[in-house]
Amino acid sequence: MYLYNSATHKKAEFVTHIPGRVEMYTCGPTVYHFAHIGNLRSYIMEDVLEKFLRYEGYEVNRVMNITDVGHLASDADTGEDKMLKGAKRENKTVMEIAQFYTDAFFSDCDKLHIKRPDVIEPATSCIDEYIKIISALIEKGCAYVAGGNVYFDTSKLERYYIFNDHDEEDLAVGVREGVEEDVNKRNKNDFVLWFTKSKFEDQALKWDSPWGIGYPGWHIECTGISLKHNGEYLDLHCGGIDNAFPHHTNEIAQSESYLGHPWCPQWFHVHHLNTNSGKMSKSKGEFLTVSLLEEKGYDPLAYRFFCLQSHYRKSLVFSWENLDNAQGAYHKLLRRIAALNEEGAVDEAALAEYKTKFIQQVGNDLNTSMGITALYDVLKAPMDDATKRAVLGSFDSVLGLGLIERAAALREREAVQVQTGGAGGYTVTGEGDAEIDALVLKRYEAKKAKDFAEADRIRDELKAMGIEVTDRKDGASWRRV
Ligand SMILES: [Zn+2]
Repeated sequence: MYLYNSATHKKAEFVTHIPGRVEMYTCGPTVYHFAHIGNLRSYIMEDVLEKFLRYEGYEVNRVMNITDVGHLASDADTGEDKMLKGAKRENKTVMEIAQFYTDAFFSDCDKLHIKRPDVIEPATSCIDEYIKIISALIEKGCAYVAGGNVYFDTSKLERYYIFNDHDEEDLAVGVREGVEEDVNKRNKNDFVLWFTKSKFEDQALKWDSPWGIGYPGWHIECTGISLKHNGEYLDLHCGGIDNAFPHHTNEIAQSESYLGHPWCPQWFHVHHLNTNSGKMSKSKGEFLTVSLLEEKGYDPLAYRFFCLQSHYRKSLVFSWENLDNAQGAYHKLLRRIAALNEEGAVDEAALAEYKTKFIQQVGNDLNTSMGITALYDVLKAPMDDATKRAVLGSFDSVLGLGLIERAAALREREAVQVQTGGAGGYTVTGEGDAEIDALVLKRYEAKKAKDFAEADRIRDELKAMGIEVTDRKDGASWRRV
C-alpha cells in the first residue's frame, strides 16, 4: 500500500523491517474521562488501517498503551495531573478511575467495531522498563538530573523537529501563554523522563527509582511499551495529529538515543474532528460521546460510516445534520444489501478481481471514501446476488460496518413483520423500529374495522413523531422525514 508519512511529508510505498510482518504501535487513551468522538475518529481510522494491512496479507502485531498514570493536563510537563483531577472529581481512587474509563473506552470501541489491539499495556505495569531506559540515557549523556527530576537533553540530538514544518506555533512550548517555564530545564524543549518533585503533594501513584520515589513522564511510556512488545524496530506508529508534537517528537528522540539506530520510519497521523466552532475537545461545547449518540437514537456504526466517508488527513466537520445524512445513507445501504438474494454460488473469479481493485483503491493512502464508493459499485455491478454478498462481506472485513449482519437483522425484522401482518399478506416496511411498525399496523387494523377516527388519530400521532407513511396495495412503508 501507499501511505503518507508525516516524518518525510511524502506518500511512499509502505515497507516493513521484516517482510510480511508489521510491528504497529498506537498511542492509547488517557483514562480519566470518557473518550469523545473526536478521539475515537483516530481509533476508527487506525482500525481500518490495521484491518487493511491484514487484508493485504500482512501479519500484524499491534500494541497500545493505556495512560493510567500522571499524564499532565499540558504537554509541556506542567499543569494538573489528569488522572488525579478525574479521581478528585468523582471521589474515587486513581486506579478505580483508570479501570472504569479503560472499560468504558473498550466498550465504545466494541460499539464502533474497533478491534482490540493484540497487546494492551497499562503504563503502570512497565515501570522497570522505563527505569532501565532512563538509566541508560543518563549513562550515555542524553539525560540529566536537575531539581530532583530526570530530563532528556535535546541539545545532544542531531535533529529534533521532525514533524514540525506544519506545526511551527507549537515550537513555542515553554513560552506559551499560561504555561510556567520549568527552571530546571537546560533547553526549552527538554522534557521530563522521571518526576520526583511533583507539584502535587498528593500524587497517588509512586514508585522507587535510582532518583528517588516518583513516577514516569508521559513520553517514556510509549517508548518503553513499544520496545517491550514490538522490539527494537517499529514499522508503523499511529496517533492523532495533536500527538505529533511534542509527544511523538520526544518518543523518537529518546528511543533513537537509547537504541543508537533509527527506530520507526513510518508515522500515521489522523487529523482533527471539528465542530462548526473549532476543534472538538473535552473542555469546549457539548461533550460528544458514543453514549450520547446512542441516547439521541444514532447507530454508532453510522458514526463510523460518517468517518469513513472522508480522508483521515483532512479535518472533518461534525454536525448533527452531517451525521443524519450519514445515518440515512448507511441505512439505505443496509436495505439494499438486505434485498439481495441469499441463494446461489459465488463467482470466485469475480470476487478475486474485485478484491484486487479494492486493495488498489483503498491502498492509496487509506482512501476509505473510495472503499465506500466500491460498495455501491458492487451493488450496481452485473453479477449475481450471491457474488455481490461475498464481495461486500469481503470489503467489510476492512471497513467494519457490520454490513452483512445488520442487513440480515433487517431481513429478519421484516420477515417478522410479514407474519404479524396477518391474513392477506399485509406488510410494513420501515427503518427498523418495532414500535413504529406496530403503530402502522394498528392504523391498518383500525381502517379494516372501519374505525376511521382511530386510523386518523394514529396517522397524526405518527406525523407528530416525524414519520411519513405511504400506503401500498399490500401494505405500507414508513420513513423518517
Ligand atoms: Zn504515545
